[in-house]
Amino acid sequence: MTSAAPLPLRWRTATVIARRPETSQVATLVLDVPGWPGHRAGQHVDLRLTAADGYQAQRSYSIASANDGTAVAITVERVADGEVSPFLLDEVRISDDLELRGPIGAYFVWNPEAGNPLLLIAGGSGVAPLMSILRARAQAPDPPAARLLYSSRDEASIIYRDELDRMATATGGPGILYTLTRERPTVWSGALGRIDRAMLERVGFPPTDEPLAFVCGPTPFVEQVAADLVALGYPGERIRTERFGPTGAVG
Ligand SMILES: Cc1cc2nc3c(=O)[nH]c(=O)nc-3n(C[C@H](O)[C@H](O)[C@H](O)COP(=O)(O)OP(=O)(O)OC[C@H]3O[C@@H](n4cnc5c(N)ncnc54)[C@H](O)[C@@H]3O)c2cc1C
Repeated sequence: MTSAAPLPLRWRTATVIARRPETSQVATLVLDVPGWPGHRAGQHVDLRLTAADGYQAQRSYSIASANDGTAVAITVERVADGEVSPFLLDEVRISDDLELRGPIGAYFVWNPEAGNPLLLIAGGSGVAPLMSILRARAQAPDPPAARLLYSSRDEASIIYRDELDRMATATGGPGILYTLTRERPTVWSGALGRIDRAMLERVGFPPTDEPLAFVCGPTPFVEQVAADLVALGYPGERIRTERFGPTGAVG
């Protein structure tokens, strides 16, 4: 008997093989996941922690890396009173094992063959899956035009800054505009203030170009940006959204 039903996701053991501080509150963990089936840019994984008394906590983390053998990178931002993110940032060491399942997600994914111009809009650590898309795009043979609009509290909170700046100056690289919501540096070539309709209109592609938009960040940020894109004429079916938390503050 043959069946097209997808296999249920199973928990796997993932070993931490690298740790990279990204900002004072954010770090990337690179995990080696034997048997990893590969992933699409934009998908996420679930991590499960088990305490000595059997108590378990489970959280989702976007995959930040492009599809790369059995290595899977996640980028974790500290939630000050959080249960899981401080543990991942403060306690987890290289060679530690974590439980992971995935890849998960069929909707917030980018297909490199899609020819539509790509508008990526990030709030804070919401840049993680968009980085996976940009890294996959950098490997694609014939990538479409892409622009990233990325909102952070201040300059020191910009995640992946060096790599993003390198991408932006590479031939055929994406256009990148940073905006800062809580700092006005004396020397600054990016934007200032929260992402609003005027900023989206300036940075985005006209709806007649049939762009595909990916929006990721705290829930209120995502809802505001998606509503502004709709108001600018982006059809709902070409706006993909991913929400990181129920009560997250805007960039
Ligand atoms: C599909 C998906 C992908 C995600 N990808 C990432 C990722 O790539 N990187 C990442 O850092 N996080 C990501 N998250 C969020 C992550 O799953 C956790 O919610 C986050 O790490 C907080 O977990 P915690 O156990 O530390 O905090 P919790 O103990 O769950 O929460 C503590 C307090 O913080 C609030 N809170 C929870 N999440 C947030 C938040 N994101 N911002 C502000 N306040 C919050 C809660 O309401 C609560 O009051 C993703 C979430 C989803 C659903």
